[in-house]
This record gives sequence, structure tokens and C-alpha cells, in this order.
Amino acid sequence: MSLRRVAVPLLGVTASLALVIPPGTAQASITAEPPAVQAHGQPAKVPVAEGYGGAVATVDLDASKAALKILRQGGNAMDAAVAGAATLGVTEPFSAGLSGGGFLVYYDARRGKVVTIDGREKAPQAMTETSFQENGVAIPFDQAVTSGLSAGVPGGLAQWELALRRFGSLSLKQALEPAIDVAAGGFTVDQTFRDQTAQNAARFADFTSTAALYLPNGAPPAVGSVFRNPDLAATYRELGRLGGEWLYGGKLGEEVVATVKKPPVRPGATRVVRPGLMEVADLRAYRALERTPTKVGYNGMDVYGMAPPSSGGSTVGEALNILQSLPKVGLHEYLEASRLAFADRNKFVGDPGYVDVPLKGLLSEGFAKERACLIGETAMPHPAAPGSPDGSYTACQVDGQAVDTGTGKAEKPEGPETTHLVVTDRWGDVAAYNITIEQTGGNGIVVPGRGFLLNNELTDFTFGPAPGDPNLPAPGKRPRSSMAPTIVLKNGKPLLAVGSPGGATIITTVLQILVNRYEFGMSLPDAVAAPRASQRNSAATQAEQAFIDRYGAELTAKGHTLTIAPGPPVSEIGAATGLEFLGHGKVQAVAEPTRRGGGSALVLTPAKP
Ligand code: GLU
Repeated sequence: MSLRRVAVPLLGVTASLALVIPPGTAQASITAEPPAVQAHGQPAKVPVAEGYGGAVATVDLDASKAALKILRQGGNAMDAAVAGAATLGVTEPFSAGLSGGGFLVYYDARRGKVVTIDGREKAPQAMTETSFQENGVAIPFDQAVTSGLSAGVPGGLAQWELALRRFGSLSLKQALEPAIDVAAGGFTVDQTFRDQTAQNAARFADFTSTAALYLPNGAPPAVGSVFRNPDLAATYRELGRLGGEWLYGGKLGEEVVATVKKPPVRPGATRVVRPGLMEVADLRAYRALERTPTKVGYNGMDVYGMAPPSSGGSTVGEALNILQSLPKVGLHEYLEASRLAFADRNKFVGDPGYVDVPLKGLLSEGFAKERACLIGETAMPHPAAPGSPDGSYTACQVDGQAVDTGTGKAEKPEGPETTHLVVTDRWGDVAAYNITIEQTGGNGIVVPGRGFLLNNELTDFTFGPAPGDPNLPAPGKRPRSSMAPTIVLKNGKPLLAVGSPGGATIITTVLQILVNRYEFGMSLPDAVAAPRASQRNSAATQAEQAFIDRYGAELTAKGHTLTIAPGPPVSEIGAATGLEFLGHGKVQAVAEPTRRGGGSALVLTPAKP
């Protein structure tokens, strides 16, 4: 596909929502029910919904319903985002949970401003540059994956509390109620849940607490059975009563630390399980942070994303800048812009508390123009060298830079980990929220009696040795992320929100959806459903089979090598969710039609067909 830039009708008028509250007016926590929720009672699992007064899209019907319930009760988008995330901690426990972390981009309608909250996990104080090395070499990656060592200081719960305190209208206790209902009452096991359990069964079996919860009768639960997690229901209830302090310095924190230091390995298991370094003091010191979003102007819109320590905003932003410097944009240009942006991401992005990230340069038009000059009619040689985002740019002069991909860690396979949800409310607030415990199943270790898995987010660090790498571990440092929750404004009003799971493919999925929507003129549902490819400055571009079937010949002729994206169980890239604001208060919520079993989009008041 190679299309000239097309004029996409941009209906950016969203101010005329059903209810607009004047600045300074408190948003009531409970109000009268708005009319008709969803025709004939129970919402159904559908990937696209259009309507008014509030909308949500997640990978999971229970989580979407939880968020919608909060909206219906008068909660705002932030309340609903927390409720949805907590419910995903029940129904998508291998991707989300209070012990993980996440990044949240939020349009605060009252202030007309995009803000972000960083709930990224941190390295414990005892972690050093060589903690993932032994005798001067990196430890085997799979040993790090299932270990106490990889468990970062959890950020998710602190993020929920900060989000509610700053932008919500409900208490943590209220926001957790829908999730408690699902955890206690149970949910129906679907194929994705069973597949993800089965894929993890060998390591789950090696921890007594995990096997007891997720391998009832020694095997993954059957599709169609009801899964209850009373321990997690009790944990959420207690959190509602005691607040986050229970984790960040209290008894729950002590239990997390004890589990990390001495994982409950099954007697007789032969797995090497490295203990972790986390202390209660690390939990006590954890803070979620409000950060300034990244922002790039793109074809008359403003695209807001997550700043470092995520590389999401800077990499999507740089690639968009490169694309709009080009005379034409097709799939070849999409892949090449992504390749270049990844070369820069790998070289320059890390935790800004530890590394001087040249964010301004990376997102500047001058730098993008300089980078765009490298894009020709055929794929550039691999690997692309990073550029110099130093403020001094030369248009279209390529000199021989040393090839340096800037990463000391072999690229790990990117699976379907993580999850992303979007919510908007009747006031026009918008949340785009990426949540993760890193790999599917985190570190595989359930905190005994508490019903949740620990994260293994610290595997996102470069293990080294890799002198100069911005993403080496350090005491208290946050590992670089690829999470890219994104909100697009037009004339200062929300136009679109989008995000995805999938490790480093998150960035390319978000970028490709934006390109599909705004360069190729697809509708948002089509832009999400379209087959994907992911180029991350690697020799071959990973792609879904349908992408290879459709565009393989054309791209191979331009010098690209396409390789099938890894499963398991199905080869697919990302399971995105998005919102588009259609004007006059109408919102379209979009989830996947098939990836990861299909997602769930719901609106408060459906539009008449
Ligand atoms: N740890 C990943 C990141 O922050 C997210 C998990 C994943 O999708 O692999 O980029």
C-alpha cells in the first residue's frame, strides 16, 4: 500500500457533551442514573459501540462492565479507569494487577489539559548495574523471568490512589467495589485465560501459592468454568479499608517482601529461583508521579503520549514527525520511520531521574527532518544508526555515522503481555491507561493467601554489560517501558485515544493505528482490525500472517524482510483499544474484533441505529 496523504474528515467537536460542568464544580460521586444503559439490560461483548454520555473499551467484558457501572453511578473517567484496571487484575491477572505498574494519560476536561501519571515499578535500593549479571555476563533471561530478582517495587496501587486523589471523585474503596464483586462472585473462563494459564503451567506448578490458585486440580481451569478468587476479593476489601499504606509500609508489604526474598518454591522443584532484593523501605519510598506528557503536532492535531521512563511517547512522536516530513506515506515509510525512531529510543531513552534524555531534540521537527532524509525508495541497511538530537540539524545530508544500536540486550520476544483500556465520561474526560505486570503471568509467583501475582518488570532493564546504555539497572531506577497510551486533540478537544499491549510492539501498534487512521483514511475500527507489522530497528520486520499475505510481495520488492510474529498461541501483534470522538457528544469505543479473543466496547447511552 502506498497512498498519498488523504484528507480525513476530522470531526473534532466534542464540547457539546450532554452535561458540561462549570469549572470548580465538584463532580458528584453518585447522581441520578442517566437514561437507558444498553438495550435490553445486559451489555454484550462487542468490539465497537457508539453512543453518548460515556464509553469504555477493554480486552474484557467484565472489566468494561465494571468501568461502565462506575460511569453510570456518576463516577468520572478516572474513577472508571481505576475500577476497570482493578477488575482486569481479576479477569486478566496475568497482565494486570495491583502489584504491577502502568502509565496513564488523561484529558482533564475541567482544566482542558492532558496530564499523565507514572506508576512504573522501581528497582530496589539494593539493585546495581550488575545485579542481572554473574561473573561479568548476563544471567539467562528465563532465569530472570521467574524470580524474586525481577520483581519491581509495585507502582500500580500508588498510581490508583494518586489518580483518584488528583482527578477522581470516588474513594479507593468505592472504585474497588466492582472488582471485588467479580473476584468473589467469579467470572467465566474464556479461551484466552485458559491459554495463558496453560502457557504458564510449568512454572506456576513450581510455586505452591500459584499452583493452588491457578492450577486447581493440577491443571488450567476449563473454558466455560467459573473462576473465583476469594483471596483477591479479601485483599481488595482490606485495601479499601486500610488504603495503599497497607502495601507501602504495612503488613501486606511485609508479605510481598517475604515472598520476593523467599519465593514459595514447591518441594522437589528443580528450577533455579533467584531471590529478590526488595525491602519494606523500598515500598515505603515508592511514589507514583505526575509527569508532563510528550506532545507533537501532527497533521493539524496534537498527539499526547507518555514521557520517559516510557519510550512510548517519544518514539511514537518521533516517528510521526518523520512521517509528516515525507512527501508521501505508505507502509514502506511507516516501517522506515519506526526503524529510525527505535534506533534513537534504544540509544537515548531511560529513566529521566538517572539519564539525561534529549527529549526536546527527539521530538523536534528539525531532528525529524534530518532523520527523514535517510528514508529512500528501498529499506535502509540494518541496523540504522541513532541520530544526534542535539539541536543542530542538517537537512538531507547523510554522513557515515558509526553503527550503534545502543542496546546491550538481545531483543526479547514480544508477546501479548500487558493490557490497555480507554474510558471517557459525560464531562468529556478521557483516560488512556496501560497496565502491566510485564510478562504474561509476571514472575509466576502469587503472594500466598493474597490472590495476586508479582510483576517481573525489572526484566525490562538492559542486563549488560553494556557501558553507556541508558537502561541499565540502578538503585531506585525505573526500567524503560514501551507503553504508549495516547490521546489526540484537535483544536484543544479530544479527537481520539488509543493504546495497546505487546512489549515494544506497543509503540508500532499505536503508530500503525494512527497511520491507518490519518494517512490511509481508515475508520478507527478498521485501523485497529487491520493486519499489523512491527519494525523496531531489527533485520526483519515482524508481521502478522495476514499482513504478509497482503503486503509481503510489495514490501519485499522494496528490500524489506518480513517474518511471522511470534505467538503463543496465535501469531498476533497487540490487542488495542481506542475511542474516537465523532462530534456532538457522540463517541465510538473500539476494541479488537478477534485478537486475544476479541475485546469489549460499551457506551452508556447507545446511539440509535
Ligand atoms: N514491560 C513492558 C513495557 O513496559 C510491558 C509489558 C509487555 O507488554 O511486554 O514496555
